[in-house]
Amino acid sequence: MKACQVSVVVPCFDEEEVIEAFHRALLAVLEPIRHTFEICYVDDGSGDRTGARINALAAEDRRVRYVSFSRNFGKEAAMLAGLRMSRGEVVVLMDADLQHPPELLPRILELRKSGYDQVVARRDRTGEGALRTLLSAACYRAMGRCMDVEVVDGEGDFRLLSRKAVDAVLALPETDRFSKGIFSWIGFDTASFTYRNVRRAAGRSKWAGRNLIDYGIGGLVSFNNRPLRLAIHTGLALALAALGYALWIIVDVALHGVAVPGYTTLLTAVVALGGIQLATLGVIGEYVGRIYSEVKRRPHYVVRETSECPDRGMRPPGVLPDAESDAEPGSSSGVHVYEGRRRT
Ligand code: UDP
Ligand code: MG
Repeated sequence: MKACQVSVVVPCFDEEEVIEAFHRALLAVLEPIRHTFEICYVDDGSGDRTGARINALAAEDRRVRYVSFSRNFGKEAAMLAGLRMSRGEVVVLMDADLQHPPELLPRILELRKSGYDQVVARRDRTGEGALRTLLSAACYRAMGRCMDVEVVDGEGDFRLLSRKAVDAVLALPETDRFSKGIFSWIGFDTASFTYRNVRRAAGRSKWAGRNLIDYGIGGLVSFNNRPLRLAIHTGLALALAALGYALWIIVDVALHGVAVPGYTTLLTAVVALGGIQLATLGVIGEYVGRIYSEVKRRPHYVVRETSECPDRGMRPPGVLPDAESDAEPGSSSGVHVYEGRRRT
């Protein structure tokens, strides 16, 4: 079989309204490029007809492959599954909603020819809601200050990875995955360019405000322990301030006798300290929670069916579909994929 040059990995969750338009747009760009390619769709447990549409696309075109999850596991898990199934010399990660314009692919592949192992298409924030822009900018500023890896506003998952870079990403075994950090952590020569943000072609975004804040916290604690250090520093600074205050009170009492009981000061100090203690406990809790989920070593996702093995002729649970076991020969993290059963 001729080696595949380009794999396009597309995580999809409830994208029935847009998936076919996306597929047509993608083919219109890929076919004229003189590369062999495959399109790897990951149906992240969609509740609509996304799975059926992908299935039909794969049935009529051998260049289309897919994996379907038993339920929604999130975009991080979907990207991981796509990277594992991909066979191309380079892999391009793209959203299904046409917010990652397929027309940019030739430019991305051109940059790859210059020898870059990662090519990042960075979107600006044209046409985005004011609140979301503000929240995102604040998130990135905070992350930029606190993280050991560099994350850039607008640089997301729309990127090309060379096979070397894909292998590096797949070699990271963590359960709790924060791709933006992982892509930065693996390093390699990276090129980036900016494109004008486009609105979703159809359907709706799966990100709510709360998700974004959780995502920010996840990013913060995924790649460093600076928040823990910050807690220690704040604690020390407060302890010193309290000591100074106590000394001052003692001197004051010695010089002027017992003053009027200062319950306001007391109350303020108690509430402030209580708040800081709670926040610190929260920070520690985040890390403990992560350790807990890492030690359980659960798979990132459960596969319901794949194009290599559609949902007939069940294999025993735990047996990997070929493409996935190919992706990680002999690797212990191969057990991240189990076969699940279709819901009835
Ligand atoms: N997605 C996914 N699983 C999820 C949420 C999203 O696979 O749980 C996919 C979604 O189908 C789309 C991409 O991730 O292809 C980006 O999602 P979305 O457009 O909702 O995010 P936004 O562009 O608003 O950040
Ligand atoms: Mg989108």
